Amino acid sequence: MATVTKKIKLKTKGNTDIINITPQVAEAVSSSGVTSGIVAVFVIGSTAGITTIEYEPGLVRDLKDYFEKIAPVSGEYEHNLRWHDGNGYAHVRASSVGQSISVPLIDGEMPLGTWQQVILIDFDNKARAREIIVQIVGD
Ligand code: ZN
Repeated sequence: MATVTKKIKLKTKGNTDIINITPQVAEAVSSSGVTSGIVAVFVIGSTAGITTIEYEPGLVRDLKDYFEKIAPVSGEYEHNLRWHDGNGYAHVRASSVGQSISVPLIDGEMPLGTWQQVILIDFDNKARAREIIVQIVGD
């Protein structure tokens, strides 16, 4: 049994920037030497989320529209009144998505669907440098 921890560092544009991180996650997995177990992908921070999507422009736009409906940027947030950083919407969106996913690792492959990619969504209201932890546990 091994635990291998890798980091993915990337810069985002913020403002609900949706980034396909599947290649970086797959690279972390293949370089770990682990072929059977579980892959945990976690983003540090309370204004970003990790999930999966069919990464194509239409759906990326649909997802952004969805977030604007459930937690509008210009909505009223107690967080903004308290901290004046204007990103209350980003915290709410991030918490609704979650900060991590786990993917099974079987025979050296993550069994993602053909049209299923792992994405980072950076909701914050400014460009950010993000750190994603990929932890691979198994044999
Ligand atoms: Zn804030």
